[in-house]
Amino acid sequence: MSLIVQKYGGTSVGDLDRIKGVALRIKRYKDKGHQVVVVVSAMSGETNRLVTMGEEISVGQPNAREMDVLTASGEQVSVALLSMALQDTGIAAKSMLADQVGIKTNSSHGRARIAEIEVEPIRKNLEAGIVSVVAGFQGVDSKGNITTLGRGGSDTSAVALAAALEADECEICTDVDGVYTADPRLVDSARRMETVTFEEMLELASLGSKVLHPRSVEFAGRYQVPLRVLSTFEPGPGTLITTEESNMEQPLVSGIAHARDEAKITVSGVPDIPGIASKILGPVSDADIEVDMIVQNTGVDGLTDFTFTVKRQDYARAVATLEPICKAIKAAGITGDNEIAKVSIVGVGMRSHAGVATKMFDCLAHENVNIQMISTSEIKISVVVAEKYMELAVRALHSEFGLQEGASVAE
Ligand code: ASP
Ligand code: MG
Repeated sequence: MSLIVQKYGGTSVGDLDRIKGVALRIKRYKDKGHQVVVVVSAMSGETNRLVTMGEEISVGQPNAREMDVLTASGEQVSVALLSMALQDTGIAAKSMLADQVGIKTNSSHGRARIAEIEVEPIRKNLEAGIVSVVAGFQGVDSKGNITTLGRGGSDTSAVALAAALEADECEICTDVDGVYTADPRLVDSARRMETVTFEEMLELASLGSKVLHPRSVEFAGRYQVPLRVLSTFEPGPGTLITTEESNMEQPLVSGIAHARDEAKITVSGVPDIPGIASKILGPVSDADIEVDMIVQNTGVDGLTDFTFTVKRQDYARAVATLEPICKAIKAAGITGDNEIAKVSIVGVGMRSHAGVATKMFDCLAHENVNIQMISTSEIKISVVVAEKYMELAVRALHSEFGLQEGASVAE
């Protein structure tokens, strides 16, 4: 008998029939003798609907505390419905909101971080044979305010709960049957991975693969929670996210990620003197705009160009923030492009192999895809390309690194 934390996403609980289906799925685990703790998201589309209402009623920025009270309500609905459905299948179940469990977070509304989880209330339910159906995404701060963990945050709720309960496994039950070598909607030959390391998954999630919330992977890695992504609707083992085994031959590249929603800004003719990078980027981060890749060219005639990328939704605001700064530092001008995308190759095998970058760049050159920016880490290489070439780039790299079905993985 093992203790399993199962998280069901929005599509899995998208309507009443699906909720009944989830109840039956949980019953099958119970019938096998497992102990199950369940975490659920809001019904699909619900959080968006709530956010839109909050934005519509507010003049200017909606109040962050009230926004959390509002958006956390989506999960309150789904835990109640699923508990009822479980009870109807003969399973003792109880809905648990974050403050009833004791999911304690800091007070950063809209992006709160979990500080501590009390395990007693859930343990009590387990001892009584009751399935706890826990609201994902929400938490409670030290003053009793409702907080939320950020969009997609119920993955993190589930992993944190699994860590706190020392569960045998945390299953993320979703509408895809695992983690793929590339987005199967873009690449026909994309393959489900049997396993992927925490490190690779963290890169894939941060670089655009939407299957898991990056913070949940970080958490799982830190606390060594065995994490599995699998389908709610079809049987199958899914993808196990696990630690790297040193004796295993790792493929050079394990997966290709892409992110479409990027934009690039160049401040040109900037005086090449100390402090310039912080003069430019300081106000951008003060405006709460996340900067991703940064490139500064070598100066010519005491001037340099400074280029960086931001999320496309922040593009206009970033440019507006920079205009006065550009004048103040006497830069020549600002140019930008919001039709770019980021394509990345990820693999722990890269650590022990040279020449991966060359192989990647040759492949893109062969397809006539121009690389605009490059950034690397030990286990990933990302490039910025024009958005219109993104799909071509992903497909070409997928086949270049032999990721398709049936290809041999060792290099
Ligand atoms: N319901 C929240 C959202 O849509 C949390 C989640 O689904 O993980 O972002
Ligand atoms: Mg989700």
